[in-house]
Order: sequence, then structure tokens, then C-alpha cells
Amino acid sequence: MNTLAALNKGWIFWLDRAGIYALPLGGITTMFLVPTQGLSWSFCLSIVVGVSLTCAIAHHLCLYHLVKCPECGWNLTKFKDGKRIQPKYVYNAFRAGRPCLKCGWEPGKPAAPDQ
Ligand SMILES: [Zn+2]
Repeated sequence: MNTLAALNKGWIFWLDRAGIYALPLGGITTMFLVPTQGLSWSFCLSIVVGVSLTCAIAHHLCLYHLVKCPECGWNLTKFKDGKRIQPKYVYNAFRAGRPCLKCGWEPGKPAAPDQ
């Protein structure tokens, strides 16, 4: 099972997509708005770049701070030595449902109830 889905954090992935798609979609919207609404290019483009950057930064922060093992609290986006895993490899591992590096928890298995 997908790790992010198991943790109800699939929105982090969409935040990443939003940051990527904001640029071309915003660009097209700007090309439409500037001649029809009389807005300035620099104003529209700075909003587009701002939204894209905000999404990218928010995604980075959420990905590396919020994805934790429900069993032991281990940060699932880090190697055992504490170094961050590149986003590309993090998502590959999430898609494959890689078990927690520390306790072996696997996505899809219910977390043990608190005792
Ligand atoms: Zn764990």
C-alpha cells in the first residue's frame, strides 16, 4: 500500500504537483488576463511565481517534517543516519510501501493500539 495514502497524507504529493503545474497554468492564465483585464505582466507573473514557490516550499517542509511512522515516530523521509532522502527516491519508496527503517512497520498494517 502507498505510504502517504496509509498515513492520510496524500495531499503532500498534490502539493508537489500544484507547485509544478502552477507555472504553466499560471502562465496561460496570465496570457489570458493581461490583454482582457488590463493587468500588468509583472504583477501577474510575480503572483504565479509566488504561488509556485509557496507550494514548493510548503511541500518540502511538509514532506520532511510530517511523514512519520505511526508505530515509532521515525521520520520516513530520512535514512538511518538521519540524512534526507531525495524527493524522487522518497516517492518511489512510498509507492512501493517500503517498511519503516527503524521498526519495520509497513503501510496498510494498522498501527498497534496504545497500551
Ligand atoms: Zn517505525
